[in-house]
Amino acid sequence: MTADDPRQAGEPRTRDVTRACENAHIRVLWDATRCIHTAICLRRLPEVFDVGARPWIDLSGAEAEEIAATIRACPTGALATKAWRSPTSSRTNRRRPR
Ligand code: SF4
Repeated sequence: MTADDPRQAGEPRTRDVTRACENAHIRVLWDATRCIHTAICLRRLPEVFDVGARPWIDLSGAEAEEIAATIRACPTGALATKAWRSPTSSRTNRRRPR
């Protein structure tokens, strides 16, 4: 099948791929098969979501709560966020052995 194959019309360019990115405050998942390219995320938070950049999600561009609010605006659930605590922050909360 080539890129011009009409059987690919309307098909996501990437199949069965969920990509994850994370920092110390938030973990973001993007399911390429659910994205219908509304560009809502790009318009709401271009400092984070930029299809011209690689990777296209840069979590350093905004605060976690702002990113989470944009994720909630995704109409298809292609973007999702999970409660997240980085491995380094969880280490500081561990009990010390007695
Ligand atoms: S808001 Fe959701 S569906 Fe729209 S482009 Fe972003 S990830 Fe895709």
